Amino acid sequence: MSLKDLAKVELHLHLEGAAPPAFIRGLAREKHIDLSGMFDADGGYKFSDFWQFLKVYEAATETLKTPMDYHRLTLAVLEESAASGVIYSETFLSPDFCGNRDLGAWREYLQAIQEAAEIAQKTHGITLRGIITCIRHFGPEKARQTALCAAETAGDFITGFGIAGDEKIGKPKDFRWAFDAAREAGLRLTAHAGEWGGPDSVRDALHDLEVERIGHGVRAIEDLALVDELAEKGIVLEVCPGSNIALGLYPNWRAHPISTLLQRGVKVTISTDDPPFFHTTMAREYDRLHDAFDWDAGQFRAIARTSLDAAFCDADTRARIRKQLEAADA
Ligand SMILES: [Zn+2]
Repeated sequence: MSLKDLAKVELHLHLEGAAPPAFIRGLAREKHIDLSGMFDADGGYKFSDFWQFLKVYEAATETLKTPMDYHRLTLAVLEESAASGVIYSETFLSPDFCGNRDLGAWREYLQAIQEAAEIAQKTHGITLRGIITCIRHFGPEKARQTALCAAETAGDFITGFGIAGDEKIGKPKDFRWAFDAAREAGLRLTAHAGEWGGPDSVRDALHDLEVERIGHGVRAIEDLALVDELAEKGIVLEVCPGSNIALGLYPNWRAHPISTLLQRGVKVTISTDDPPFFHTTMAREYDRLHDAFDWDAGQFRAIARTSLDAAFCDADTRARIRKQLEAADA
């Protein structure tokens, strides 16, 4: 069997960051927005480092202005994910980009996204849940407004809260108020850490924000006491190897710490982060990990189960997806 056909669960995907370049180019054309210089000769996104990547990313999001744009985006993204065998996906959604943190506007975007998710579930058999993220480099005050949007729309679809953006700006504890508000609203918590920041960044996210998952977290490997703590506490890492390699965190797949983290008992999962930016898909991540570490279908199935256990969905949804996974494995 091809690894592409294995049923997959993805926990770390930014909706705007998953926008197919052709989709963004089409929107830009419709709206007469000039995005020349943003694409390489093959039509992919063009950038040379993480900070330039954030700029290109924000330029791409400039084309996404209305709830209908997000409806179309959600459909385009879920179609791509389903083509890689993903049956359950959690995407990061940002009221910063959807309505400028205005609750009324955010509700309109959310409804459009949710309607698209329902269509995708019927047509592609993929289930989507949303994690609202604040943006670290926008600062704690905007994060507070984002958390209020999250708290007000928490429910069956919006099930988590997190933080993304430039890890070198600010400290996790600056965002404590936002995380406390989200937790009180019943949202489950994750934070980007240990990508551009080292082990201390992971520790701070764990201790100051009390998250149960870490976005990336791979640089925990630089401190084995922290790795042991992650394993003991059952903290789940949303590992995005292709993203880390594309952004130069590690020189190649064999040098990526995912395999060592797994061997040391850390719960690792596999995601694509911003797949077209990193010229990847879930199917490609599986292929490259197989090539690098000789992981077989059994290993990938175990990781899919770990991912589902860590998913921020309700028990009924988890049971339904588990049946889908078991049927696919049979
Ligand atoms: Zn991310």
